[in-house]
Amino acid sequence: MDVLTAIKGHLENEVPTWAKELVMEALSTYTAPAVSDVPTLSWIAQVMGAKPIFEMVEQKVPDTGTYEFLIALARSLHDLRSVLSIEDSIAAGQQEAELARTIHHCISAAIPQWEVGVEIPQQVRSFHGIFDIPVYYNGVGPNPKVDRIIDLVELCFKIDDLAPLTTLLENLLQIPAKTTVHDRFRVLYKPLVPRLKTTLTALGQSMALEPFKSFFKNVISLYLARILGVVPAFPPPTLPNTNIGCGCSHCEQITPWLSRSTAKLTFQAVQQTRTHIEGQITKARISHLARMSTDATGRPYTLVVNKVPELEAALVWRDAQKLAEEFIESVADTDATKVIMQDRYQDATDALSGVKVFILGDMRVARRGDIIPGEGILPLVPGAAGATVPVAGVKRKQPS
Ligand SMILES: [Zn+2]
Repeated sequence: MDVLTAIKGHLENEVPTWAKELVMEALSTYTAPAVSDVPTLSWIAQVMGAKPIFEMVEQKVPDTGTYEFLIALARSLHDLRSVLSIEDSIAAGQQEAELARTIHHCISAAIPQWEVGVEIPQQVRSFHGIFDIPVYYNGVGPNPKVDRIIDLVELCFKIDDLAPLTTLLENLLQIPAKTTVHDRFRVLYKPLVPRLKTTLTALGQSMALEPFKSFFKNVISLYLARILGVVPAFPPPTLPNTNIGCGCSHCEQITPWLSRSTAKLTFQAVQQTRTHIEGQITKARISHLARMSTDATGRPYTLVVNKVPELEAALVWRDAQKLAEEFIESVADTDATKVIMQDRYQDATDALSGVKVFILGDMRVARRGDIIPGEGILPLVPGAAGATVPVAGVKRKQPS
């Protein structure tokens, strides 16, 4: 490839036969793709057409460790289009088709590698500038995974070919081995959703455009099926409507704790204090809500108050419902959720209210232009890159 790069400067646009042979020879042995070769490869596509590049990518480029190369090549070949589009001839049309096919192939070959080697930087919190402790990533701060997805989305709109995004979004919905669904939501889906919405809005596109609509639908479905959890079998116990205790600093913790989902409340205190708290709890007659025991492993002993399992389950479910509602709200408002969820909207509502468990259905991501049952009800408006529907994401404020 170095030889080609060297002769490229001397040849301009007229390539003699001997140089073409040299190019084909070099491409047939090209097995170590490097981003630095992209200008030369792009020049080959310009002077000899994109076909040899297509064949080289298809046959020679390894399917691992080549993400940056493939994306750089796709971008460079796309830039070539504006050079070629000046001509209006059959030959130029053919060359454009070859280019489009090659760009599509580069991006398609890059997509399965999107997550390889991309890590969320470990965040640390410094204590008095003396030592750092790692901080659990909670969706705030740099996220190179999300950056990469957004780059790919923007690139596919730029080249006006959204088909590779169907593969990408389907790939995103597969949870890698050793990754929990909770972690996938924390690290990827939750930070991605607002960025994706902002990007679509900036591109003048609707969330209801495929393949994005299917993606949003599947993310909500995954949440309801795998994160929300199951409604408790027993009706929630009724909490007392008066404050428990005498109002001292110990007693005043009891009433708020009873309505939180935390299982236990502990008081490590001298016997006199423990006896006081025990007495106040007994007086409140809440043995159907919480039980007391004493842990004698430390000094002084610890009075442990445990919620009964039915109360704990009810409160855990209440928290889970609230978080699920917040998550869905972060994806789309009610009207847009109806559009996104379509035939599963009632199931989603039923799952949220605890009427029935959400069963994960077909996780397929639709292609742009796929006909989906029920799609006809949407007011389709032709847009620059396909059908746009004026729904969510545009009017709502983005969570900051
Ligand atoms: Zn008290």
